[in-house]
Amino acid sequence: MNNDSKNNRREFLKTTGKAGLAAGLSLTVLPSLAEKYNSKNYFRITGDDISYSQQPLPYAYDALLPAIDAMTMEIHYSKHAAAYAKNLADAVTAEGVDTGKTSLTDLLGGISKYSVKMRNNAGGHYNHELFWKTMKAPGKDIPVPAESLLNAIEKNFTSVDAFKTQFSDAAKGRFGSGWAWLVLGADKKLLIGSTPNQDNPLMGISELKGIPLLCLDVWEHAYYLKYQNRRPDYITNWWSVVNWDVVQKRFDAVK
Ligand code: MN
Repeated sequence: MNNDSKNNRREFLKTTGKAGLAAGLSLTVLPSLAEKYNSKNYFRITGDDISYSQQPLPYAYDALLPAIDAMTMEIHYSKHAAAYAKNLADAVTAEGVDTGKTSLTDLLGGISKYSVKMRNNAGGHYNHELFWKTMKAPGKDIPVPAESLLNAIEKNFTSVDAFKTQFSDAAKGRFGSGWAWLVLGADKKLLIGSTPNQDNPLMGISELKGIPLLCLDVWEHAYYLKYQNRRPDYITNWWSVVNWDVVQKRFDAVK
């Protein structure tokens, strides 16, 4: 199946669900078809090393100053994110997932087979693990992507500045709690979007679909101690701690 027919099929599943029901397809068939189609079967990221357990933070709690303060980082990592990891482990046990056979990315792809607890905590755990990896201490260099990713960003969004504006707008515009994303979509096109709560673009049920390259947590717990209601200031300052090397490696790893 070529990309066009894949996209057409996705559009069909997305936009004609009601017509499909009228034609006799059942409610249970449509999500499973969409999920099979949209999750693991047509593109993969190699070397996505996000595992089921929480990994050590790759820098000190105060490393991201002045963009993100140490107390926020400590509470965020050791309380919020740790709870997602623990609750994911509990859900995996309760729902009989063999983590030796089912990777976390595959679990996310088929998330509608599991409980709401699994959805919230598998997403919450993956999202935070990626979030920590894609940040680093601010350097003296101007933080921009390099090489192949830079070319792709310029091709998709015309310029790095235009990309940052669009990503920032997605982060500002996410109502309530959620995440902003840069993902590589099914047709290898870079996409910007956001997800509510702890949903993730690897989930078959997510409106935004693709391989996550970069994410930004816009839950209030990620910024409230320092920024209170000023989410836009948090977003602006966060750009100074993006670890473009990691984002670049993820982009290059998608096959
Ligand atoms: Mn968070």
